[in-house]
Amino acid sequence: MAGTASTPAVAHIGIGSNLGDAQANCLKALEALDGLKESCLIRASSLYRTEPVGYENQEWFVNCVAMLETGLSPYNLVLFMQEMEKAAGRRRVISCGPRTLDLDLLFYEDMIIRENGLTVPHPELIHRRFVLEPLREIDPGKIHPVLKKTVDELYLALHDVKQVWKIS
Ligand code: ADP
Ligand code: MG
Repeated sequence: MAGTASTPAVAHIGIGSNLGDAQANCLKALEALDGLKESCLIRASSLYRTEPVGYENQEWFVNCVAMLETGLSPYNLVLFMQEMEKAAGRRRVISCGPRTLDLDLLFYEDMIIRENGLTVPHPELIHRRFVLEPLREIDPGKIHPVLKKTVDELYLALHDVKQVWKIS
């Protein structure tokens, strides 16, 4: 079964920052994910500079997406991700506002979760160019377990006109 120590699961994680050194914050987050217990980074996208969505009066973000092999359950993984956000100095002040680090669990294997405040696949991923562009770079064939569409198909169907530029 996915998520046990013997057969690790694959999780896709969205990373974003627009406070302080946003590029360094994203790179540090990739390292920290790789250092999580029972976990290993298997792929990371390029970094992208992206126009803010929702609350627009703020700096552009830096975003990337990681693929992590992990023995942690989705709940424990999200707990560790929230610890990492706190350690980076994140304060929840304005919804969609500036943040030193935002970590979103996009997919966890093909699991569909809607309980205890956790929704997987992440409900906003299909609307966001800043997620789908880096996700498509590293795993275009990944199938959304609810919509039964590939990341590539979701990307091509996007209506989001916000700008997303590859940095490196
Ligand atoms: P956003 O990422 O949409 O800007 P936050 O990072 O502030 O918002 O997260 C809001 C809440 O969403 C958190 O309390 C978290 O527990 C919850 N949440 C639900 N599903 C997920 C998920 N798949 N990944 C990350 N957080 C999630
Ligand atoms: Mg978040």
